[in-house]
Amino acid sequence: MKQIVILGGGFGGLRTALDLARGLSTLPCREDYQITLIDRTHYHTFTPLLYEIATTAPETADYQTLASLVAYPFSELLKNTCVQFIHDEISHVDVNNRVVHSAHHTLPFDYLVIALGAEPSFFSIPGLKDHALTFKTLHDALSIRDAILSFSHHNPHPLRIVIAGGGPTGVELASEIKNAEQASCRVCRQNSVTLLDSNSSILSAFHPRIAQRATQRLKKIGVHLCCGSALKEVYAHELVLENNTRMAFDILIWAGGVKAATLADTMPFQKEARGRIAVHELMQCIPENADLSVAHQIYALGDLSCIVNPRTKKTAGQVAPAAVYQGAIVAHNILQSIKQQEGFIQKSHFRTYIPQEYPYILPLGGKYGLAKIGPFIISGFFAWIFKGIVELHYFFSIMPFWTALTLWIKGLNVFIKNDRLG
Ligand SMILES: Cc1cc2nc3c(=O)[nH]c(=O)nc-3n(C[C@H](O)[C@H](O)[C@H](O)COP(=O)(O)OP(=O)(O)OC[C@H]3O[C@@H](n4cnc5c(N)ncnc54)[C@H](O)[C@@H]3O)c2cc1C
Repeated sequence: MKQIVILGGGFGGLRTALDLARGLSTLPCREDYQITLIDRTHYHTFTPLLYEIATTAPETADYQTLASLVAYPFSELLKNTCVQFIHDEISHVDVNNRVVHSAHHTLPFDYLVIALGAEPSFFSIPGLKDHALTFKTLHDALSIRDAILSFSHHNPHPLRIVIAGGGPTGVELASEIKNAEQASCRVCRQNSVTLLDSNSSILSAFHPRIAQRATQRLKKIGVHLCCGSALKEVYAHELVLENNTRMAFDILIWAGGVKAATLADTMPFQKEARGRIAVHELMQCIPENADLSVAHQIYALGDLSCIVNPRTKKTAGQVAPAAVYQGAIVAHNILQSIKQQEGFIQKSHFRTYIPQEYPYILPLGGKYGLAKIGPFIISGFFAWIFKGIVELHYFFSIMPFWTALTLWIKGLNVFIKNDRLG
């Protein structure tokens, strides 16, 4: 039996698995192929709602309810498909011998899809890894929530929260933390939330009007902005910036940068500065050495991959829609290869991926969002509504209609309490 192995069940890996399963089920050779998805968690994480998890009060929802709103078990998502799921930590990928090693399994492959995403990068800043919380996974979001609750209960003085990194993740989290505390108690209003960015403004990679409006919004809800100097070193409750400013904190959250999953380091493919695997327009990995015969059967996508738009020279953004779209293309291209190999078609019709700008929506505290859709920028309540619709659309794409709708309504009921301020 031929093996198609997908590493990582995030946005890209899950899309690949679902599309491959659907496509393969229509082929007469379906019994000859096994699709395996492997992930270190037993659930698919919906990251765009993690900031809600980090900021939802215990009286609004308990751990289990919160987890159920953003972590969807693969056993359910893959229930009626031919995809085998393995819950395990991948430890090594031996590309030359076509084998994936995980803690408890050894998986040979004919086709490999690498969709392991990204992980926090600490840029060797002394003390940062030891003293900062990260914000990448469900576990991280719950840890932030626990830290805020625990500090609030045990300390009489107002809490000093510092978020380092003024990209979308830091901006969303800062505004939601500020909003949640304002919504939950009056005393907490004295707490301070500071957002640091080494650039001269937050959201420097975004359209200047987005950065400007987000800045106005953050200032309005009381987030302090500290831009223009990078983080130099971090101690237990104090950080130092490059300009030698010292800042005390109770909780430091690092949202200042990511790099490709470490496993990519040892794979014999070309990589860019942040360790992302270079892929060409069919999403196949570009080998370091042209002799690597299996290269055309190995694909990488999502946050772990790097593809350049030949016209603009820009790389694809590390966002969920890019990973999903790439996942669909990878599934299509693998199916074309299989069809040609099995003699169902004479020539494969591959699809190519060209990096593009996707619409994005930043939730900025309460029922307020900031969205850029093509040339249009919308802000306020309608952008917040649009965000909800986009979420529902994604749920429909990975789970049955009623399950998706029920989940979305359940989430709305919980998170609307968080977002009660406008
Ligand atoms: C807090 C937060 C909020 C975000 N909000 C948005 C948003 O609103 N809109 C948007 O477009 N994007 C958002 N993003 C970015 C988006 O989540 C990523 O671009 C997207 O997840 C990338 O998809 P992926 O498939 O490449 O990787 P991921 O979705 O990260 O999936 C990688 C998978 O690989 C698994 N994995 C990694 N290493 C191993 C290993 N060694 N063994 C086994 N399994 C492993 C992980 O468990 C994970 O399931 C957000 C990200 C974060 C962190």
